[in-house]
Amino acid sequence: MRTIEKQVAFGPRIPGSPGHAAMLSWLVGELEESGANVSRRPFRMTNALTGEKVTGTNVVASFGSNNRDRIFFAAHWDTRAWADQDPDSTKRKDPVPGANDGASGVAILLQLSRILAENPPAIGIDLIFFDGEDQGSYADPRTFSLGARAFVASAPLTGFRPQFGILVDLAGGKGVRFATDYRSWRDARALTDSVNAVLATYLPDRMELGRVMQTEDDHIPFLDAGIPCVVIFGSGDPNWHTTHDLPESCSPEVLEGVGNTLLEFIYMADKRP
Ligand SMILES: [Zn+2]
Repeated sequence: MRTIEKQVAFGPRIPGSPGHAAMLSWLVGELEESGANVSRRPFRMTNALTGEKVTGTNVVASFGSNNRDRIFFAAHWDTRAWADQDPDSTKRKDPVPGANDGASGVAILLQLSRILAENPPAIGIDLIFFDGEDQGSYADPRTFSLGARAFVASAPLTGFRPQFGILVDLAGGKGVRFATDYRSWRDARALTDSVNAVLATYLPDRMELGRVMQTEDDHIPFLDAGIPCVVIFGSGDPNWHTTHDLPESCSPEVLEGVGNTLLEFIYMADKRP
């Protein structure tokens, strides 16, 4: 929760904004403190609504860099420029504070980095923080996940060949529920089943596994490239893309359940398909 509050205090993390720049240096500093190999991966992106060209930066923190046997965890760190779902129509051009939508996933991954620093894993771990996830136009899904697309496009060059990945998004909100994501299930079924089973042990009351939903998120470019990646996506947050996406709308219980789920994939080899 403190790590969410810290990010929201930077202000909106919209690519090109002062809050975005401050958040980037803080994030890199936090990760370097955990002893990870940290790299910034800048890319050029165009803001779908303004047409403005800005630099986005994906951040990768690697633990056990020499281990060829690797898995990754990912979240987006940018926040949406427009609260277009705000109940008050006069606020729909204001930025989203991004507590659940952005900061929660980053907080979960940063907590993993602190645990990894103290408990070196037997498998190589990459924590990936995507930029440019949430600046898109709903009319065109390809205007979302710009950082993840740039990252996957560079994978043949950078030699990124993980066994699989797990993405977390909106996974810390008070009211969220976890349904089955269609593309995760279709393209990475064994991993989806395993993630759902572990998540259900921590957050049994929040599972809606019989419900299938389509999530446009940063896992799609990986699946399109044949890299298994499932999303843990909290649906049903009433504050999604509004000015009310604030720390008080997040839940320590949900953050802990999702974080513990990820830890099982790091430290318990039998959970990995
Ligand atoms: Zn969003």
